[in-house]
Amino acid sequence: MDLKTQIRSVPDFPKPGILFYDITTLIGSPSGFAATIDALAAPYVGQGIDAVVGIESRGFILGAPVAERLGAGFIPMRKPGKLPSKAVRAEFALEYGTDALEVHEDAIRPGQRVLIVDDVLATGGTAQAAVSLVKQIGGTLHGLAFLIELPFLNGKAKLPGEQIFSVLQY
Ligand code: AMP
Repeated sequence: MDLKTQIRSVPDFPKPGILFYDITTLIGSPSGFAATIDALAAPYVGQGIDAVVGIESRGFILGAPVAERLGAGFIPMRKPGKLPSKAVRAEFALEYGTDALEVHEDAIRPGQRVLIVDDVLATGGTAQAAVSLVKQIGGTLHGLAFLIELPFLNGKAKLPGEQIFSVLQY
């Protein structure tokens, strides 16, 4: 299935100069959603993934079904102030602005093999923060999986030594 034809490109959102890849058109389709989760999970079947970390909020939509498919747990990595128990925080620069992420400090048991999932790898700032949080709380990072990678922004440079998989590149 051609996933790209089901993703809508929205120019100048959320600000001028950004071409926003809108996955709502893809995941709103039963066959598109199933094919998306198949493609994201496939490289990790049988790889001993214990937990999938999803980055708020589109990483939740994709990461949770990937976790279920892999027989892994799901760990939400959230915007500041949303998690109820004690959390660790990392701040980072976005393609459009700055933000921070938090995760519960006890979300991962020492040595658990973790896969990070998000919709888009752009400048890599978000993913870099997610990697640092997983390592801070004692996870063993297996890799990072994205539906979309924007190679012209070179996000991989912020993730040296990490195993990175993307289904689609623009
Ligand atoms: P970055 O930290 O620059 O790699 O940005 C990644 C995060 O921002 C992801 O969580 C995406 O959801 C979002 N994002 C960045 N650029 C885009 C884009 N062009 N289209 C859709 N989402 C984007």
